Amino acid sequence: MPKLVIASASYGVHTPEALQLLSQVFDEIRRVDLKVGEAEDSTARKIGDADALILGAGGTVTRKVMLDASNLKIIARHGIGLDNVDLRAASELGIPVTYCRHTGEEVSVAEHTVALILACARRLVEADKAVREERWGLRASLIGLELRGKTLGIIGFGAIGREVARIMREGFRMRVIAYDPYVPDAVFTEHKVGRVDLEYLLRESDVITIHVPLTSETRRLLNKERIQMIKKGAVLVNTARGAVVDEEELSKALTEGRIFYAGLDVFEQEPPAGSPLPKLPNVVLTPHVAAFTREALYRMDIANAEDLALFFRGERPRHLANPEVYEMGLRAKQVRK
Ligand code: NAD
Repeated sequence: MPKLVIASASYGVHTPEALQLLSQVFDEIRRVDLKVGEAEDSTARKIGDADALILGAGGTVTRKVMLDASNLKIIARHGIGLDNVDLRAASELGIPVTYCRHTGEEVSVAEHTVALILACARRLVEADKAVREERWGLRASLIGLELRGKTLGIIGFGAIGREVARIMREGFRMRVIAYDPYVPDAVFTEHKVGRVDLEYLLRESDVITIHVPLTSETRRLLNKERIQMIKKGAVLVNTARGAVVDEEELSKALTEGRIFYAGLDVFEQEPPAGSPLPKLPNVVLTPHVAAFTREALYRMDIANAEDLALFFRGERPRHLANPEVYEMGLRAKQVRK
């Protein structure tokens, strides 16, 4: 029977059913910790002779890692973002990559985004601290921002962006605009969201939220020049990927009060050791937990386990990120039973 390495600390924590299913497929299941920015050699060593890998948000599986971990036949991404897997190399090497698309993960990420928007707008963390520290008198300085009628700007109008738009438009009666060059006009019309260019969005929005994948095009999409375009006093929320924003420039804008508040679930380095952001009072931080609800994790855990079970039965997994691999030929021509 094949061997599995799980490199996602949250995998299976609330889903014994998924672990049970995996135990019927795999002979050996090992847990490892892969950090964001972990070296290729160390990543490959941790994967070792495993046949399958469940990969969280830490660790990057490059071509070299796939070549060095030469027994690796399938990767199940425990999440949606694919920036930490070289998808093209996987296809060329015959390694299917499954992920948690179509498991409803966007619901929890969108709800967390809304939580961050509210925590920023109403300065919840500062207010909580004031009460705990018996500094009640601070209440007169804890003045927030009302959302009704304000403009929400969404960068990246995919599954998560659309769900955030729906909640904020229907629930908070915000005016919603979005920037996404890859989505057809009909989708904007259907969601009653105004299609705008990025500069307009930055200059116009009272709240900006980022929902693009990390690609060569979106890395530092919010660079110094674009951060300077942001409307004075706006809130910026990022639950996508840290590297989409220049963190140094964001820190400056927050310190100078050009940006009122930032709500961040993701960082260029995770944890953000050495970053100036955690030291600022007008930032709400969460440790990449936007998808961490019992409901979303259950659906993601089951999706990964079922896809692995299908693959090792010789069938096609349901949530393939690189379906072309089936035309190009699998590394696992002979799947061990
Ligand atoms: P999605 O693919 O449904 O939507 C992404 C959208 O971004 C697409 O509509 C795409 O057209 C758009 N886009 C791509 N490049 C762009 C660019 N240069 N400019 C503007 N728009 C661009 O993905 P999703 O499910 O909405 O997830 C978005 C991202 O959120 C994921 O890629 C992942 O990195 C991140 N995410 C984070 C967490 C978390 O725990 N914090 C969880 C899930 C996903």
